[in-house]
Amino acid sequence: MLELSKLDIDTIHWQKLIGQADSYLKRLFPICRSITGDGVRQTLSILREITDFKIKEVPSGTRCYDWTIPDEWNIKDAYIEDSGGKRIVDFKDNNVHVVNYSVPVNATITFRELEKHLYTLPRLPKAIPYRISYYNKDWGFCISHKQLCGLNKNAKYHVVIDSTLKPGKMTYAECLVKGSSDQEFLISTYCCHPSLANDNLSGQVLWALLLKEIKNRKTRHSYRFVISPETIGAICYLSKNEKVMRNIKGGFVLTTVAGPGKLGYKRTFLGDHAIDRVAEKTFRELNADYIPYPFDIISGSDERHYSSPYFRIPMGTICKDKYSEYDFYHTSLDNLDFINPKYLIETLKVYLLCLHKLEINCTYRSLSPYCEPMLSKRGLYPKISGHIEQKVFGSAGKPDTNGELRAILWVMFYSDGNNSVLDISEKTGMPMKLIYETSQKLLALKLLEKI
Ligand code: ZN
Repeated sequence: MLELSKLDIDTIHWQKLIGQADSYLKRLFPICRSITGDGVRQTLSILREITDFKIKEVPSGTRCYDWTIPDEWNIKDAYIEDSGGKRIVDFKDNNVHVVNYSVPVNATITFRELEKHLYTLPRLPKAIPYRISYYNKDWGFCISHKQLCGLNKNAKYHVVIDSTLKPGKMTYAECLVKGSSDQEFLISTYCCHPSLANDNLSGQVLWALLLKEIKNRKTRHSYRFVISPETIGAICYLSKNEKVMRNIKGGFVLTTVAGPGKLGYKRTFLGDHAIDRVAEKTFRELNADYIPYPFDIISGSDERHYSSPYFRIPMGTICKDKYSEYDFYHTSLDNLDFINPKYLIETLKVYLLCLHKLEINCTYRSLSPYCEPMLSKRGLYPKISGHIEQKVFGSAGKPDTNGELRAILWVMFYSDGNNSVLDISEKTGMPMKLIYETSQKLLALKLLEKI
């Protein structure tokens, strides 16, 4: 049990993971994903090369609470030609050029008509914005603002979107890693964005690598890994797994994990749940400079559904360049030059440290609650005493030479069945690992029982 603590895995392992992340990011980036269609199928089957999981499909028209699985969308080609027949916008150059879920079109139209279907971003004149129209049947092209300014306003243009929108299926995947306890946590991400790197190809690759890391260890808790199109996928998953999802203790939505900016932590809707406490403790222990974000409902991902009134699963998110916050968010500049596989693996490590803290967050009860137990007869007390410094653990200056004894006394003091390892760590300022290892020692000496 608890082999998750083996985070001091040699650097060769981390280097290997960086190389793996790099190659999967490069292979997956060009795929045109959406909330349904072959792009999602292809993405999931490539991710499954990293580690096995179940791929499932739900037919179009299936009701999921207030939502319905839409028709399946696929696209072969799309372009705008000028009057000379030259392709001036080409889906094959960048799939972000097409408004995702565009209905098919093949027409020659004036600039004025075309303009109603063009989307640009004046703030970033060289970037192609990412736009979607899942539930409103429409078509459109996204181009740089610079390109728009250069278009001939008096010319006619030939627009083609060779897409299909018809009854099919929505694809998602899951994997349940069973632990020894009855506590289950959720690790979720989304796989519906086309060629956009930080949001959220990085989250997809991290999801698969984290799943593999967890499967390679024996864990106390169970971990349910879900990867689905954002919003409709999570809603569908909740509707199909209502009973088990209601019992999930908490979890993380993996997104935007490999940008060059600062680490960030978006809190759960509770703000002080164990998920929040282990995440913030991990950042503190790593001495990491991170940005805390409150739970927010407009700017959010699938935690909006996982945490909805019926389910109330507290979901946190650790990011590196959080969605909505970086300039290139939802634009063609969120590409492979923007992210770095090294950052992705750094975020993976932070997630593993958080999960390790959840793993060791046990609760014990003292079997010697009537005053302090006699430590000296168990060899736990200095033979010659009277020299213990009255020093609070963790205060500046010399290292705490009595750390081990202090931990024993605190663990015995707080182990009344109401304080977990995390609680004791927060109350004493001592690392969770020390509290846990001390508790294990006292458990072996039959001074504690595990609850
Ligand atoms: Zn997004």
